[in-house]
Order: sequence, then C-alpha cells, then structure tokens
Amino acid sequence: MFILKSRNIIDGVKEKAMENGIIVVKGEKIEFVGEDSSFKGNRRGAEVIDFEEKTIMPGMMDAHVHPSFNGEPDFWDIVLTKTDPYRTVKALVNLQNDLIAGFTTIRALGEKSDIDIALREAIDQGLVKGPRMVCAGKNITVTGGHTDLNFVPDIKNEQGLGGVTVDGTEEMQKAVRAQIKAGADLIKLMVTGGVTSKGSGPTTQYMSEEEISAAVKEAHNLGKKVTVHAQGAGGIKSSVLAGVDCIEHGYYLDREIASLMAEKGVFYVPTWKAGSSILKEEIKAQLPDYILEKAEKIKEVSLDSFRYAIEENVSIVAGTDVGCPFNHHGENAQELELMVKAGLSEIEAIKTATKNAAVCFGVEEFTGTLETGKFADIICVDGNPLKDIKACQKVTFVMKNGEVVVNNGKSVLPL
Ligand SMILES: [Zn+2]
Repeated sequence: MFILKSRNIIDGVKEKAMENGIIVVKGEKIEFVGEDSSFKGNRRGAEVIDFEEKTIMPGMMDAHVHPSFNGEPDFWDIVLTKTDPYRTVKALVNLQNDLIAGFTTIRALGEKSDIDIALREAIDQGLVKGPRMVCAGKNITVTGGHTDLNFVPDIKNEQGLGGVTVDGTEEMQKAVRAQIKAGADLIKLMVTGGVTSKGSGPTTQYMSEEEISAAVKEAHNLGKKVTVHAQGAGGIKSSVLAGVDCIEHGYYLDREIASLMAEKGVFYVPTWKAGSSILKEEIKAQLPDYILEKAEKIKEVSLDSFRYAIEENVSIVAGTDVGCPFNHHGENAQELELMVKAGLSEIEAIKTATKNAAVCFGVEEFTGTLETGKFADIICVDGNPLKDIKACQKVTFVMKNGEVVVNNGKSVLPL
C-alpha cells in the first residue's frame, strides 16, 4: 500500500490541479484520491511518498509507437536485415524506455511477425516488465501502397516491413479476421502514401473507400477498432466516411473533414514529433531529398489542419510515431510540448496523452485518469506542467499497476 502526496495533483479529469491531495494505492488499484483529511481508511503499513512541489499526474499514453525500431536513419535496414528474435529483444528495450519516460500505456501500430502481440502477452503475464499495450499486430496495406515495399525490387510488404498486402474487399475481410485471430486489439490500415516511403506520396490514396469499409465492417463486427495512416485530404475523407475510429497523421485535414470527424467522434493523432524529429537542422542534411521535400511541405499545411481540428472540437490524441527516423523511444513527452506550440493549452495537451487517449484506445474503464477503482498508473514530474509543459519530460517517478518502475528519477526495472 502506498500513500502518494503532492502539493499539485492533476487527475486528468478536472481542468485544475488539486492542491495538497493524496492518492492511496492498494495492490494494483487506486483506492482514494482527494484531501488527506477526507481519507478515513486504514493507513497501517502504507509507504508514504511525499513529492512536495513535484506534480503527480496519470501515467501518459502514446497512441502511435513502433516498438522494434528506434530512430535509425534508415529503418529499412533494421526491417530487412534483422531477424525476428533480435527485433523482439530490441522492441522490449524500446518499450521499457517508453515506460521509464512515464508512458504507462502505448498503442503499437504496425509490427512484423506480431512481435507486439507476443510482448503484450509476456508483459501481461509478468514474464517481463513493460507498458500496458494495445496492439495492431501487422499493418494492412494494398499493392503499391505505403509500406508495400514497391521501391525494393522483388520484395513484398510481407517479407519486409512485415505487414499484409491485400487487394479488394474479400482479401481485406480475410486479413482483418486473421489479424484479430492472431490477437490484435485493433486494425491499422495504410490508406495513403507517406513521408518515409520511396515512390509513394502523402496525398496519394492507395486504398479504396470500399476496401476501408470492408475492414471497418469486419473489425467492428468482431468488437475491434480501426485506425488509419491517412495523410492527404482524399484519404482522410474516405476513411471517415467508411467509419474508421481514428486518423493517424491527417496532415492535409481540411475544415469540412474536421467537422465531420467531430460529428462522428473520430479521433485525431497528429504525430507532431514525427515531422519535428526529421526537420531539425542538423538532421535535415542526412535525409534523402524524397523525404525532405515531403516533410517540408507537410510542415506548412499541418498547422492549419491542427487549427481546424481544435476549432471544430475534434478529440485529439498524443501519438509520436517513435521508432521512425530520428524519433527515439523515451522522448515521447516531446509530443505534448509540440501540441502546446501548435495551439493547445497545457491541460488540453495533457488530456491528449491521458483521458482522450484512454477513450480512443477503449481502456477508459480502467486507466487514463486518477480515479478510485482504476489501475494505479501514476507518474510524478519535476515542475508544474500546467505552467511549463516541458515538465512532462522530467519524469521522476513511475508506477504501473501499483508497481514502482521509476523512483527518484531512476529506473528500478530488472534488466
Ligand atoms: Zn507510424
């Protein structure tokens, strides 16, 4: 049993922080959140940790993680040349770094050989320590689409990035069923081209509305959500009309689509960190022209898209795309700083990585906010993130499921 005290507690529900409160943790769960004097339960044997000026908040969530790479400039190298056992070990280390950075829940969006699903099971069974995971397993694309390795002769997505390539509604339905049978918690579709793939542009829509619709119908029928990599306006609109639950990137979102997303309750994961990681001056020089040109164009348009999303009240969720070039595990909280730079208030930015994310992932019943009865997924950060959002990058304490993972700024995870 723990009693966590602080002058500043952000519970992820209220707009303001609670002053001088306590959180009582019993076993895996939160037993009480409120004023010290209002807790009438038994305190015997409790370990009391007083964080004083530091801020307690819910464990953060990252909606867009690639477990097995870690910012390598050419991730195709990792994808194409490393074995699955190597990638599994690497993915575990990367995921532990997300957890140490205060991200107690992550959504894995596309992994070869269902490595993410295997790690989720191992973590849930207590074999290894890691964040709570919501897994897409293999991503699904179409011939010539993003991640179908159309720029490497004679290599298909299946052998390379390890997703599935389908064409037509029947193949789509079969692929969705196979993913869910393999243990996927949600389905990830590659609707448009992307920044990092050669020969496919962000605004080109590869997957048809009928194909997306077939995936949504099957996934929803089996009780699973669908998220889509969609960057150009056409691809985003088709996805929203087809009934998807969430849009990743959405760089060319316009006001009309934003309004439709708000109406239909479709979540938006703008992945600011993906673009900002590769557009740093020292890094730009190392990038091939085909990536740099696309990234610079996107930087121009995506600020407007984000403004439309805010103005139309779209539910925004923090997702970093960590793993992609120059985008490292453990730096996940930079996304919140970028959200504030792009126009959100500090508390709204925090909600994108807590409450909103929990609803988007479908785990809001048991985590995402500091409330009685939820799992004790709790962090403490140095400073007050409501004044300076960068405080979320200074995590000094992490608890997942009532178990301490980081204490006094040091990881206590077993190697
Ligand atoms: Zn991604």
